[in-house]
Order: sequence, then C-alpha cells, then structure tokens
Amino acid sequence: MDTLEKSTSPATTNPSSGATFKVYNPATGEQLAELPVMTPDQVEQAVRRAGTAQKEWAALSFNERRKVMLRWRSKLVANKEKIVETLVAENGKPPLEALMELFYLADVIGYYCAQAPRFLKGYKVPLHLLKTKRARVVYHPVGVVGVISPWNFPLLLGFGDALAALVAGNAVVVKPSEVTPLSALRLVELAEGVGFPPGLLQVVTGWGETGGSLVDNADLIAFTGGTNTGKKVMERASRRLVPVLLELGGKDPMIVLKDADLDRAARGAVAGAFFNSGQVCISVEKLFVEAPVYDVFVAKVVEQVKRLRLGSPAGDPSNRDLGPMTYQGQLDIVEQQVADARVKGAHILTGGKRGEGLFYEPTVLTNVTPDMLVMREETFGPLLPIIKVKDADEALRLANASNFGLSSSIWTGDTSRGEALAQKLEAGSTCVNDVFINYILPEVPFGGIKDSGLGYRHGGADSLRKFCRPQTILTDRFGLKSEPIWLPYGKKVPKLLGFALNLMYKRKYS
Ligand code: NAD
Repeated sequence: MDTLEKSTSPATTNPSSGATFKVYNPATGEQLAELPVMTPDQVEQAVRRAGTAQKEWAALSFNERRKVMLRWRSKLVANKEKIVETLVAENGKPPLEALMELFYLADVIGYYCAQAPRFLKGYKVPLHLLKTKRARVVYHPVGVVGVISPWNFPLLLGFGDALAALVAGNAVVVKPSEVTPLSALRLVELAEGVGFPPGLLQVVTGWGETGGSLVDNADLIAFTGGTNTGKKVMERASRRLVPVLLELGGKDPMIVLKDADLDRAARGAVAGAFFNSGQVCISVEKLFVEAPVYDVFVAKVVEQVKRLRLGSPAGDPSNRDLGPMTYQGQLDIVEQQVADARVKGAHILTGGKRGEGLFYEPTVLTNVTPDMLVMREETFGPLLPIIKVKDADEALRLANASNFGLSSSIWTGDTSRGEALAQKLEAGSTCVNDVFINYILPEVPFGGIKDSGLGYRHGGADSLRKFCRPQTILTDRFGLKSEPIWLPYGKKVPKLLGFALNLMYKRKYS
C-alpha cells in the first residue's frame, strides 16, 4: 500500500474540513489507509477542474483519444500485481477474481475504442414525410460524468462506466465506496503521464454525502449500488434535472428443469451463488428445481459447496475459492437472514455459520418459504436457498414474484424451450445453461428492470451513447421563400391539409 495515501491528485488531498475515514483489510482487520472525507466545496472544485479538462479532451479525434486510452491500458496491465494486491487487500476477494476485474477493464477499453467511431459518428435519418428536408443525429459528450460505485467490484463497477464515458469524450469523477476506495486511487494514479489532460479523471473520497455532492455538480450520474440509495440519488438529481443511470440491487432466480445437465447446472449454481462470496448483484439468490430431479440436484450442489476452500486471499492464489465478506454490515445481513430462516423452519444443509473475522461459510438452505427474509430481500452474501417446484410454470411464477428484475438463468436440455421460457422471466437478462457471463460481453445490453435499475444499459452502442447527448440537425434542402405551414396561413392551406389527411390516412381497416 506504498504510495496510495500520498496520491498526487489535488482532488484526493488537502481536505479543508480535516475529516477522514479509515479503510481496512477484511481478511486481517489491518488498517490500510486513512483518507479525506471530501467536502462539498472540494467536490465542486474537482468537477470544475474536470470540466476544463473535458473541453481539451473532447476536442481530440477518436484516434487521439484511443492512443491515450491504450497507453493507460498498457500501464494498467504492466502494473497488474500492484492493482491486484490493492484490490485483494481492501475487498478480500481471491487474487484470481481481482485479476478477472482487471481483465474485464482491459478488454472493454479495447472494445470501446474500436467501436467509438461507429457508435458515435452520428447517422443520417431518412424522412418518411417531409422529403424537402434532410436530418441527421450527432452525439456530443455530456461533459463531466459522476460515477458513484459500490464495494463489491471496485474496478469493474467503478471504472467500466468511467472508461466508456472517457472514450465518448467526457471527463469523469469517480466516487468509490468508502469501503474500497484504494483500487480507484490506484487506477487514477496509473493514469498520470499517459496523456489525459490534468483533472480529466479524478477520484473523490468520502461517505455517501460526498456522493451527494457529486450529484449536485456533475452533468450526468452513473450510479451503481443499493436500490434505496439509488432512489435518493435520483431524488437529489431531480433538483437540477441531471440525468441519472441507476444500476441497483437484485434477487436473481435460477431455474433448473428436469431435463437439464445436472452436473453442469450444479457447478453453475455454485459459481453463481458463491463467486466473490455471493457479493454480486447478479449472483444466484434463489434456486428453483423441478421435483423429479430435486433430490439428486441438491445432493450435487451440496457436494460441490463442501469442496469450496474458504480462506485468506493472501498466499497461493490457486488455493482459495472464497475470501471473507467485505465488510461487517453485509455480514450482519447474512447472519440475520440465516437466523430468520432457521426460526421459520429452513434446513441448513451445509455452512450456516461465520468463521473467524468476516469469513462466512458458503451455505445451502432448503425447506425455505416465501415469508423468509432470504427469499424476499437481497442477500448479497454466500447463501443459496433451494426450492422444489412442480414444473416450469410454478418456477416462473415464483421467480417473477419479486420487486427485483436484474438477471436470471434457466437450465434445460432443450435450449429452444429454454429461450422461449427465458422471455417469460421479468429480468433485464437471462442466461440459458449459463450464469452471469453475459455481464462481461460488451456487445449485448445489460441492465435491470423493476427495483433493479432505471435508464441504465451497458452493451453495444448504448455503452457510449448513454454518456452523450444526441442532437438532431434538420436542414431544409430547397430554400423556398416560405413554407405552407408558416404564418400567415394561406387560404388554401386548410383545404390542402384536409385533402392530404384523407388521401394518406382515411383508408378503413377491418
Ligand atoms: P450503497 O448503495 O450503500 O452505496 C453505493 C455508493 O453510493 C457508495 O459509493 C456510497 O458511498 C454511495 N452513497 C451512499 N449514499 C449516498 C447518497 N445519499 N448519495 C450519493 N451517493 C451515496 O451500495 P453498496 O453497499 O456499496 O453496494 C451493494 C449494493 O449495490 C447491492 O444492493 C448490490 O446489488 C448493488 N449492486 C448493483 C450492481 C448492478 O450492476 N446492478 C452491481 C453491484 C452492486
């Protein structure tokens, strides 16, 4: 953790208020850093400085911006050990999973840079009515994008959006979670000297109120976090009518039909439920299994879960599957849900208790009922409740009985039927015979419905266009002295309009 506390970015030092917060290693309890809680004034200054840099950045061509982004990528990859070390230390995830986050960023930087000229070049629009005009749409960066991110994927969620916004010509100010701000500082530190105008990419540190100040100043907010916080962000943004993109919580269902490959499905369930200790917005949070295969399937899942290795992320990276929970508050939710389920009659087939410190055993629950917290509320931890269902219809009904609608999966030997059933799931995305891999594919849209999100889609052209404002440019082609519908109206205009209306739209349809 050598230089982090001495970050050279003016946006991350000198808190005039003097208030600070501490960052801890969840595996060891060791204090890693003490950082400033940035004041509203400091956030405002950071955004102003970013705004100045943005003008310089937006004036560059796509190709010039691409060169800078790729230089940054090379530097990130060259420093992967440092980045992984920082991420593991503050979040607790195994090093392999930290490396996956970096891999994702490296990949999407390339994708966004390659596609930007196509996605953002604008397009001509053929007009169906007024052939005397021509129209096209062009894209402008919105200005300063404020990214507010959670602690479960500090790189992927803090910077996935940030780098799309940068490629699109914006400046970015990231407000990382107070639980895991160090990786963000590390990435910004590594952005120095690659060619970004000074202040183009900054981090502001602090609690939720620092995020609130960012909402008060940025030109667009990309928020990823809990549903209740997202609502507060939207309410605050409404005061200035600033656009907000909300990526929120989830309670993702997985449905296993009786013709599924049960071995693959069991492995998928374990990966889906326990990756990053279940602290994933799209983790499998409730699993429905058709009755004829229920017993066999549950046995396979339990066998897999018992093989998971829970332990400190330090040391041999190939020797760990799950690290600790990232912070006490999340562990409390997990313990509360397990206690509630126990009291209401759930069976704990494996796990069900905490280890030392913030470690919690991967836990499989059966005999769960809809009134249990673990079935109703987001867990965001290593719990997997399994429910026996009569058939696919019952599974769909129970899966959809939720306020959330982020992601989901269906497992079946008949992929055509799986794809048809997928369309009946109320979720932003559904995998057939797979789990959450769609997130990392930059070509396809990702985003939640219901309480899981609003206005947010990454994937394809939207990845970049959502950080732009479209402008329509309409040009008259012929330069007549006047137009029929301009004032003052000619005598013949009503008659002509009535005639056109009849001619074009009077036809009857049965
Ligand atoms: P959180 O909502 O508590 O915090 C998220 C961020 O918002 C943090 O940086 C926090 O400091 C900031 N914040 C808190 N109050 C604020 C306010 N009033 N104004 C502005 N900013 C404020 O969430 P968390 O505990 O960090 O993360 C867990 C949640 O995030 C879970 O609900 C999870 O499902 C969700 N999540 C969603 C996705 C997704 O892609 N949909 C991905 C990861 C996490």
